[in-house]
Amino acid sequence: MTQKDSEAFYGPDFNALQAQDPDIAAVLISELVRQQKNLQLIASENFTSPAVLATMGSTLSNKYAEGYPGKRYYGGCEEVDKVEVIGIERAKALFGAEHANLQPHSGASANVAVYQAFTKPGDSVLAMSLPHGGHLTHGSKVNFSGKWFNIFSYGVRQEDELIDYDELRDNAIANKPKMICVGATAYPSLIDFETVRKICDEVGAIMWVDAAHFIGLVAGKAIPSPVPYADVVSFTTHKVLRGPRGGMILSKAEHAAAIDKAVFPGMQGGPIMSAVAGKAVALKECATPEYQAYAKNVIVNAKALAADLEKEGMRAVSGGTQTHLALIDIRSTGVNGKVADERCGASGIVLNKNSIPYDPETPAVTSGIRVGTAATTTQGMGVPEMSQIASFIARAIKDGGDENKAKAIRSEVNALTAKFPIYAR
Ligand SMILES: *Cc1c(COP(=O)(O)O)cnc(C)c1O
Repeated sequence: MTQKDSEAFYGPDFNALQAQDPDIAAVLISELVRQQKNLQLIASENFTSPAVLATMGSTLSNKYAEGYPGKRYYGGCEEVDKVEVIGIERAKALFGAEHANLQPHSGASANVAVYQAFTKPGDSVLAMSLPHGGHLTHGSKVNFSGKWFNIFSYGVRQEDELIDYDELRDNAIANKPKMICVGATAYPSLIDFETVRKICDEVGAIMWVDAAHFIGLVAGKAIPSPVPYADVVSFTTHKVLRGPRGGMILSKAEHAAAIDKAVFPGMQGGPIMSAVAGKAVALKECATPEYQAYAKNVIVNAKALAADLEKEGMRAVSGGTQTHLALIDIRSTGVNGKVADERCGASGIVLNKNSIPYDPETPAVTSGIRVGTAATTTQGMGVPEMSQIASFIARAIKDGGDENKAKAIRSEVNALTAKFPIYAR
């Protein structure tokens, strides 16, 4: 996209910004160009639609709306009330949920609300261990969860790198957690929600699914839903789901009042109504056959990418993927995750280093990389492109320390992404 095209995309508002603040306007353009030219393989990122972007740059941003539709603490909420009611109804219909709260500012904020709704500081919570793919909010010592709660962790088996449900059950019986969390940031397989429900019932724990990564695949009916099993499901709206940056919580009707109170006034002040509108728009998009086809293709592409990287001599953790992301053990290349991440970046491939289960390296170095296909699939890439991408990654890891070779890979990457333009008009 040329600069002129970017201006056309952002419309008169962008022209106003450019006139008033060329420094920031220039960054908006160069960031768009960065997203267009490089390969975006970060598993938690995607390209949201122009319709969603339009809501986020709208005057809904100006409105204070503390409270919930029909029960606000400020006047003038009659218009934003409509947006939130439509969004809640869409969320309940799409996921078959009894209750939906669209106000959390982010996935982490949604999780703060979940803890607050069901636990008190000092209570025991069982969640996936961070080195095995759990999120910061699942008990990291530097996060509120690890500071304020008594966290017990479960992990994956060394042999097959899958969740060990027997260990999870033994752990739950021994430690009697108030709440059990499943869901992770770097777990390529599906989770057995039925088994987790049984364990929760056996020990009397709340079943919390942190579906931030995979909820978009559930929305697109490409993988089984946790909603029938879980007491509460929290997630982000900007990963595979492809909506605005933000969080959301679904729950059983019996927990509705506790969840709503935990979000406001428990954790937040006014909701970001422009983002709530964006969530409503994204939920409508998710209900279309096009999105369902997209969600299936995301998985097809991730499986292809993992298999292609194995052909390049690397190892897919747990033998591959059933979702949108793959975790790749790159020890066979002799290069660690940190260096691989840097070399890929220099070659126009944006991904992240990631610990693998039982990683001998520190979290700052790691033995792995994490790749996801949400963004490239939105661009329209398919299985043939995945094999090209796998070869770019392999070359970048092996040769990317050499500036000229990195430059050569980068120009091939740019040629590929040019065939799949985003935000073009
Ligand atoms: C991304 C993620 C979050 C946090 O989302 P933010 O919007 O970055 O706060 C929480 N839990 C899991 C499992 C995630 O993957």
